[in-house]
Amino acid sequence: MKTEVRRSVCPYDCPDTCGLKIELVEGRAVRVAGDSEHPFTRGSLCPKMAHYERTVYSSERVLHPLIRSGEKGSGQFRTVTWDEAIVCIADHWKELITGYGAETILPFSYAGTMGLVQRNCGESFFHRLGASRLARTICSSAKGYGWSSVMGETLAPHPDEIKKSDLIILWGTNALATNLHLVHNVREAKMRGAVVWLVDTYETPTAKIADNFVCVRPGCDGALALGIMHILVREGLQNQTFLNEYVQGFEDFRAECLPEFPRTKSVRLQELRLVSLKR
Ligand code: SF4
Repeated sequence: MKTEVRRSVCPYDCPDTCGLKIELVEGRAVRVAGDSEHPFTRGSLCPKMAHYERTVYSSERVLHPLIRSGEKGSGQFRTVTWDEAIVCIADHWKELITGYGAETILPFSYAGTMGLVQRNCGESFFHRLGASRLARTICSSAKGYGWSSVMGETLAPHPDEIKKSDLIILWGTNALATNLHLVHNVREAKMRGAVVWLVDTYETPTAKIADNFVCVRPGCDGALALGIMHILVREGLQNQTFLNEYVQGFEDFRAECLPEFPRTKSVRLQELRLVSLKR
């Protein structure tokens, strides 16, 4: 039996792009493992890709167009050919466009397991059709606009910077589940003596790698952030050079959101540590 190992990368829409080593027997994938020589992902895969061969050959994969044949929710579908499916969709759309205009059609999709070409190629079709336009990826658009309004064109800090950090704050991220490869860098930093804080609304598995855990009520971490900024400014701990060179509107923000409070023992910097669960 011919056995070989081929290299590939994870096709999901995930920036880590894990390196894969795929074992093939007679041309059929029998094992998918992480590529330990990949410099960033270092051989670890998230559960979506570990055993991906089972997904590829699963009997539950949808490989042909299906049309619902029973009531909604009945789970009853019949297999149709691509030609039948296209005629069915085109007839329905023509009816909608004639009756209500092309904007009655709203394309709704995101990236999934697509590359950039597959992800974007449908857009010109829908533009030509005159369909409604939608900022796709409804969930991450809000995050994207929020980030760019504060950070401009800056993509993000480079994940490798974490290795050099002395203080790491994992804020609202269950990194062990959703940012697996960052954890390698966090662990390296910890071995150098870095301190790790976790801020979240419940004690996620990531608390295992944190030195301190701050549990906030859902929706309250904005108040915590303002409180921390207030203390940093009040104690003169902010990096003023950085603020002067790179930050717009800091003085307005300070006047609006960080009013001067008299120093009292109850709000001194060291009090902040009392809200954490020292591990
Ligand atoms: S973390 Fe998971 S989804 Fe992301 S690239 Fe790696 S295997 Fe793919």
